[in-house]
Amino acid sequence: MKRHPVYVIAGYVAATVSLSLAAIGVSQAEVFLDAYTKAQPVIDKAVNAYGGPEKIGSIETFHIHETTKIRQRYQSRKLGPPFDIVEGSTDIAFDRANGHFRASFGGPFPTMQIRHGDESQQIDLTRMVSTPAAAPIDQNTHFINRIVPALLANKLYQRAQNVTWAGQSRINDRLNDVLSIAWDTGQMYMVHVDSETGLIRRYDILANDFVVGDTIAESYFDEYETIDGIPTPMHRWQRMAGQQTYDAYVQEISYNGDVSSQFEIPEGVIAVDAAPPPASELRELTAGVWIGNGAYQNLYVDMGDYLLSVDAGGGTAVIKGDLAQLESLADGKPLRYSVITHHHSDHTAGVDALAAAGTTFITTADSREYLTGIIASRSTAGANATTVEPVTPKFETVKDRDVVESATRRVEIYRVPNAHAEDYFIVYLPAEKILFGADVFNFPPNGPAAPANENFQTFWDNFSKLGLDVETVANAHGRLGTADELRTRAGKRLASR
Ligand SMILES: [Zn+2]
Repeated sequence: MKRHPVYVIAGYVAATVSLSLAAIGVSQAEVFLDAYTKAQPVIDKAVNAYGGPEKIGSIETFHIHETTKIRQRYQSRKLGPPFDIVEGSTDIAFDRANGHFRASFGGPFPTMQIRHGDESQQIDLTRMVSTPAAAPIDQNTHFINRIVPALLANKLYQRAQNVTWAGQSRINDRLNDVLSIAWDTGQMYMVHVDSETGLIRRYDILANDFVVGDTIAESYFDEYETIDGIPTPMHRWQRMAGQQTYDAYVQEISYNGDVSSQFEIPEGVIAVDAAPPPASELRELTAGVWIGNGAYQNLYVDMGDYLLSVDAGGGTAVIKGDLAQLESLADGKPLRYSVITHHHSDHTAGVDALAAAGTTFITTADSREYLTGIIASRSTAGANATTVEPVTPKFETVKDRDVVESATRRVEIYRVPNAHAEDYFIVYLPAEKILFGADVFNFPPNGPAAPANENFQTFWDNFSKLGLDVETVANAHGRLGTADELRTRAGKRLASR
């Protein structure tokens, strides 16, 4: 049986409430009506706080520029807090009448999304390439309404029939009425409206945290100023599972200004075809060595009597799919060992499926604790309700290097700390001259590779000391590469110093 703690608690509370209400003669239907009726004046208060329905309904264009601080909860160099802080920026503009939208994210990997009508482009500003987005970017339901409280108030107003009063909260000693709203997407939001001023102080959504499982993601609006007649927070921040993860500080903001110049693709960006959609078939690199084919490519090695795997990218379903294919590809040989290149969420998302297959993880003592936590959280997580039965994972701890050897195959495992992750491993097959790693030396499936960055440089400095004779470079993302391509990238780095 799967456990759903959130629902169990909610059910328990509901049962308790209905029992006590039954005792005083109030039916369930009246509880609902009461919660709905109580919500309506709170919505009115919020709408009026932002200038009234006409004012907030007439925001046609918008532009915001914020500086941001992201605490990398799932992608830090180290396993636990304090997480690495990445400074960047967010710059968003929209023009509702013309169907234009742009969101730019600055930082170490700057990107941009632009929508003109039904056409959307995803732009990588490091590689300076643009690819058509799979679906038009939805400016309304997902994004803007969540960062501009005046638009969130407008959403409450438009969807008033989907809003109920859920209770009261205190934020910094101020009392709030909490409204529950069913969003267009079906997701439930809890919006905290200041009981006195009507300003929105916070909203919460249920989240499936990668490390702890089911939890609440909280978003706060702070330091209100009046901009173009609309109360506007100058500081937004977020918490996940009780830990602060994000801050945004407004540098520039305007409602209904001229945004006509905001939607151009930057000069020098070249259009390339979208990467092929992820396929699920494993590819054979050489006899008895397979790699996934898609956004998250895991490696599998036939050791003769058993299999060794590297990485758990793509989630539980991908790993289960890989293992199902190996049933026939590798004649039902059992999975005995699994190496994880590093702890980042996109490389560990399927560790529960590996554990359920009975593998022994080869990793550091610190990563052992981290992976154990993830595997435990998977089994409680609502979004992963169709996953595997929880098992206690097995481990073999390693410090800097290890070898798994059978009569037919030798696999060498090296820790190569770098700026991307400290507990970072590569896997090397000396007979086949295959190197497998993740993230630091990607070869994108389409268009030019990114220039050498700090992640690559710090990796290369440690990797080149190992003196491994490599021919094929396989990666958890992107196409296969060669050792020459790695050397070229390292050479470019040296030349640019
Ligand atoms: Zn990573």
